[in-house]
Amino acid sequence: MSQNQGFMKALKCRECGREYPLTATHVCEFDFGPLEVAYDYAKIKKSLTREAIESRPKSMWRYRELLPVATEPTVGQQAGFTPLVKADRLAKKLGIRELWVKNDTVNYPTLSFKDRVVSVALSRAKELGFTTVACASTGNLANSVAAQAAAAGLKAYVFIPSDLEQGKIINSLVYGAHVIGIKGHYDEVNRLCAEIAGKFGWAFVNVNMRPYYAEGSKSMAYEIIEQLGWRIPQHTIVPMASGSLLTKIQKGYQEFVKLGLVTESKYSIHGAQATGCSPISVAHKAGLDFFKPVKPDTIAKSLAIGTPADGFYALKVMKETNAHADDISDDEIRDAIKLQDAGCRNRPRRQAARNQAQPARIRSHAGE
Ligand SMILES: *Cc1c(COP(=O)(O)O)cnc(C)c1O
Ligand SMILES: [Zn+2]
Repeated sequence: MSQNQGFMKALKCRECGREYPLTATHVCEFDFGPLEVAYDYAKIKKSLTREAIESRPKSMWRYRELLPVATEPTVGQQAGFTPLVKADRLAKKLGIRELWVKNDTVNYPTLSFKDRVVSVALSRAKELGFTTVACASTGNLANSVAAQAAAAGLKAYVFIPSDLEQGKIINSLVYGAHVIGIKGHYDEVNRLCAEIAGKFGWAFVNVNMRPYYAEGSKSMAYEIIEQLGWRIPQHTIVPMASGSLLTKIQKGYQEFVKLGLVTESKYSIHGAQATGCSPISVAHKAGLDFFKPVKPDTIAKSLAIGTPADGFYALKVMKETNAHADDISDDEIRDAIKLQDAGCRNRPRRQAARNQAQPARIRSHAGE
């Protein structure tokens, strides 16, 4: 390869291992397996030390060697490095010795986890010469693509289910993105985007740019390790939509072990879904290694993906790490949201009693 590719080696098929050039492409031509970015870890090891990381600005780009850009990032340089909050009172309530919450609701610039993946996808899209970016979204992703495209001087098209609440996409409109409502749920929107991605020569962050985009999620794993004082948590609970984040937490932990940045230890990566859209957790609880697609019906709209693209791999990671999966009802989600106010002195006693009566369950962010 003549071009500078930074610390990346190739795109590699997760099924057969065939390698592809680092272009905007996401499936293997032979078996339709998903492509993933492969890195030159020997080269990375020479420059990525704990000291180097700690000396860099507090953003997800302090782990830049492990993120798929050839040169310095040009979009979303401030994303990531969100607080890891020690939640002592919640831990006590749930009967857990030590509990931390990764607060991505203060991510920059659009206050969601998606700012991580979009920073990476758009930085890489610019390197590959794209001038228009697009996505299929349930809300969060659309807003992040719209905001970061505006900042980067890229044109943006976002495709959403047409019945999405107005509040969810108002930001996309404010940032000047073309917002296209599609009659159907997310999975149908996504399928349409897969069909048109090639046609217009756009960088679809979660279609043809997916291998790069998904790598952005690893930054969450690196930050958790560093913020815990260079250790891997015994248990990590991850909300699952497509299942991508869960698989990338595993990849991130493994990479830090491989690079000698953290000592290997036993850990489990558990998955959480909403009962109204729980294809992955239902399959895991039944001991299956494949899932059955569902039609989503839950208030946890940002997790409402009935045909999860990485569901198969998420199941694999949970099995490998000896983990559990679970799902909770919309009522339990509402109760959990209220539980965040549990510290208020004037909390009604009835609520307290109800919470007390419930066993510790896996909780996920309900809203966006
Ligand atoms: C996107 C998203 C996730 C993770 O989704 P995956 O598709 O599984 O990577 C989790 N929580 C929220 C709020 C999200 O928007
Ligand atoms: Zn293949």
